[in-house]
Amino acid sequence: MRLSVIVPCYNEESCLPTLRATLLHVLPPLTDEFEVILVDDGSTDGTLDLLRTMARYDSRFRYLSLSRNFGKEAAMLAGLEHADGDLIAILDADLQHPPELLGDMVALIDKGYDQVVARRTRTGDARVRTAASRAYYRIMNRLVDVELTDGVGDFRLLSRRAVDALLSLEERNRFSKGLFSWIGFDTAVVDYENVARADGDSKWSLRSLLNYGIDGILSFNHRPLRLAVYVGALCTAAAFVYALWLVLGALLNGTSAPGYVTIMCGIIGFGGMQLLLVGVVGEYLGRIYHETKHRPHFLVKETSPTTAEPEAPCL
Ligand code: UDP
Ligand code: MG
Repeated sequence: MRLSVIVPCYNEESCLPTLRATLLHVLPPLTDEFEVILVDDGSTDGTLDLLRTMARYDSRFRYLSLSRNFGKEAAMLAGLEHADGDLIAILDADLQHPPELLGDMVALIDKGYDQVVARRTRTGDARVRTAASRAYYRIMNRLVDVELTDGVGDFRLLSRRAVDALLSLEERNRFSKGLFSWIGFDTAVVDYENVARADGDSKWSLRSLLNYGIDGILSFNHRPLRLAVYVGALCTAAAFVYALWLVLGALLNGTSAPGYVTIMCGIIGFGGMQLLLVGVVGEYLGRIYHETKHRPHFLVKETSPTTAEPEAPCL
């Protein structure tokens, strides 16, 4: 069994030595044939230098360096495209995805599953963040056609055919949480305790989380557009009834000119709603525009040499 482990790395120089040591501890007992594919996602610190050193002396550590920061989704995809194992694992460089779990995950794959996903329990997270993410998943699962689970991220082990299925999806806007779920296949879950980052800071800001959330909703169906139609129809009906009431009132009682408040509420309310709904349409249009350009998901600047030098380094 050949195992490929993909690790996207963006400015992870401080985590890499520990990651390497942990992987060298965990992987050899699992299989003789493993490769670690480290994807440098346009890091600006010493990550690439470190990857070069790692690959130089140990051909089991390969690396790819992207021409700039393309984001984690692209980095993972680059890794998947370059991995040639029968089993492929994806994990973060900061050791928040404990590699020790890989043993249990491989055992489950051996039982016949095609995907084994790791689910983290949210102990230690800020309460607001936990509540926000619960609410998000509740809404998401109503809106999208794929099933998304709270705490389940990109840490997973996939069979070759699951990876081939993922690679056959050609969309530019990749929301991999959804794609993993979309491809289906028998999926097993293992739980793990939430761990803090080994070093450095998370690359997620509140804004990027929010954008990611919106991407998730819009990437999988056009239900928000359907919602826009319903809201539009409801408002039109309400406006019609109200207009009828006003006209009848004017016919029966004559007109005085009250109603400033009603008019203002109507203008502001409908104006806001229209902008929002046009925004929804625009989001989809933007996506179509993006897809039609058919740009590559990432560009590779450098890859590791195929053979390593025999001497062991001091990392
Ligand atoms: N990452 C990446 N490109 C990016 C941002 C992050 O490859 O643009 C990598 C990062 O190096 C790490 C993983 O994605 O290995 C998860 O990132 P991070 O720890 O910042 O996210 P969090 O754990 O907070 O969700
Ligand atoms: Mg992290």
